[in-house]
Amino acid sequence: MIPPGPHYVFSRKAHNAAGIERRLKNAGTVFLFLDYDGTLTPIRSIPSEAVLSSAAKTLLRSVTALPDVHVAIVTGRSMKSIRRFIPACTITLAANHGLHILHEDGTEWIHENARASLHVLDAVRRRLRSEVKAAPGAFIENKELTLSIHVRKCAPAAARLLARAIERITAAVAPELRITKGKKVIELRPPTPWGKSGAVLKLLHARGSHGAVAVYIGDDATDEEAFRAVRPDGIAIRVGRKKRTEADYYVNDAAEVHAFLHMLLRARSMDNPTSPDDKGR
Ligand SMILES: [Mg+2]
Repeated sequence: MIPPGPHYVFSRKAHNAAGIERRLKNAGTVFLFLDYDGTLTPIRSIPSEAVLSSAAKTLLRSVTALPDVHVAIVTGRSMKSIRRFIPACTITLAANHGLHILHEDGTEWIHENARASLHVLDAVRRRLRSEVKAAPGAFIENKELTLSIHVRKCAPAAARLLARAIERITAAVAPELRITKGKKVIELRPPTPWGKSGAVLKLLHARGSHGAVAVYIGDDATDEEAFRAVRPDGIAIRVGRKKRTEADYYVNDAAEVHAFLHMLLRARSMDNPTSPDDKGR
């Protein structure tokens, strides 16, 4: 009997990895979408500490250098914040859950509702200051187009009170804003259903995805809609096993995401001519 939920990518029994590697090898183009926190790096309680290891940086650089492989980082972070970790301009960056896109060629796009909501978002942020202060461990992260209130270091009761205060204040000041909940974080977003899947579909359409395989790897609730966006022809991979997910596959942690990137590198490097050192061996 097939177990419910997603399949483990590196299962020895099921040979899932071999099947995926074949699909990556045979695709005309590969679109690789990667979440950042909890996907390329382990989750850190202080967001600024989620630095990419030098090995991971090298790996990512090698993958982006592959012909016909397009890499995009799709994150809830602000553009300013993600650029601190991913400086390379060969990678497309979709920040603020896809509301802000910086293309490989340096052109930028910002969702119009996000631009229009800047002032109300700021008004809510100012009203929230005292409530957040009253919840020890909680802090506000101003992400320019969105607002994140982190409660990871907060006692559960205080976090619940704060969540209620956020709802109350938002309803009073700017009821049009969307409130979403992630892993120990509450977010305020502009009034648009546009999320990570919007960015994924926009990037796929811009490039033309005929004969391409789209891969999306992420670990959070906000990645679920993007899993749906790449299915049924793409490969959706959740980081961390969970029965109820839109992803077809899962890996256990960031280290296994890196193992997947190595697999992609192997799959797409096969046809490369051998280096002079290898000749005659
Ligand atoms: Mg994440």
